[in-house]
Amino acid sequence: MKQQLEAIRDNAVKELAQAKGQQVLETLRVKYLGKKGELTSILKQMGGLSAEERPVIGQLANQVRSLIEEELTKRAAELKEQAQQARLEQERLDVTLPGKRRELGAKHPLSIVLDEIKEIFVGMGFEIVDGPEVEYDYYNFEALNIPKNHPARDTQDTFYINDNIVLRTQTSPVQVRVMEKTQPPIRIISPGRVYRSDAVDATHSPLFHQIEGLVVDRGITFAHLKDTLETFVKRLYGEDSVVRFRPHHFPFTEPSAEVDVQCFNCHGEGCRLCKGEGWIEILGCGMVHPKVLSNCGIDPEVYSGFALGMGLERVVMRRYNIDDLRLFYENDIRFLKQF
Ligand SMILES: [Zn+2]
Repeated sequence: MKQQLEAIRDNAVKELAQAKGQQVLETLRVKYLGKKGELTSILKQMGGLSAEERPVIGQLANQVRSLIEEELTKRAAELKEQAQQARLEQERLDVTLPGKRRELGAKHPLSIVLDEIKEIFVGMGFEIVDGPEVEYDYYNFEALNIPKNHPARDTQDTFYINDNIVLRTQTSPVQVRVMEKTQPPIRIISPGRVYRSDAVDATHSPLFHQIEGLVVDRGITFAHLKDTLETFVKRLYGEDSVVRFRPHHFPFTEPSAEVDVQCFNCHGEGCRLCKGEGWIEILGCGMVHPKVLSNCGIDPEVYSGFALGMGLERVVMRRYNIDDLRLFYENDIRFLKQF
């Protein structure tokens, strides 16, 4: 029995030393000291011992019990300490590590100028209207006085989804949609993406942005158009800007004009920026064609209006002296950081 007790003691000490985790310790405690544990079952056999043996074995059994209890407590403390160390190690903060830099974004140059343009027109009482980029042929061409056989349809090099649906080549269909639904007075601008099947180069892109404006009311004349555009150009490019109107042709306006701004670099002398012209073309405009008005259910005998349209990219390129359109779409952070 003495040997059994010694064996229990040695095994317990060995197992406890290797125990990992509080749960293993509890299992070992039950195994050795529990009601059905190994030590208890030995003690139950003490009745069969002689009077001399009993105190000796009893003493040894008590020693083994307190030793196992001590080892249990000791191991538990050790494990607790280890767990804490591991946690501290994990949570350790190395203050010498370089920080994670958070890259802050900024507005794209196209957005900066577009927001400015919107603000100028809103200041003049215009409303901003949106429209679909996938558009019916009717709204993109037909209603704008560009019939099926009109040469403008060839030159525009349209992306056709099918015979009847196109990626809009201009933001003008928004004007048609507004006129169909609203009776004058109308005063809107519609900025947005437009698509032409152009190859990409420094001045062409299959995707670009237009901003169109439309005013329809009783008694609207070319004078209103001129004043609106002069105000717009002066707010955008500065009070000393000089504007020039050149006669032009668009199917949806009559009369039509192109608008140039005197080169702010050479003040009309001619330089590299304006290619020696002294003037820089920035937009097209005109009085809304009576046929377009009546196409949209507005009586041209009662109402008249003007429309204007410009390419946002071109305006932004002039503004910042950017010579390659592709820079706007390449997401090169070195370029975008400059605005
Ligand atoms: Zn110039």
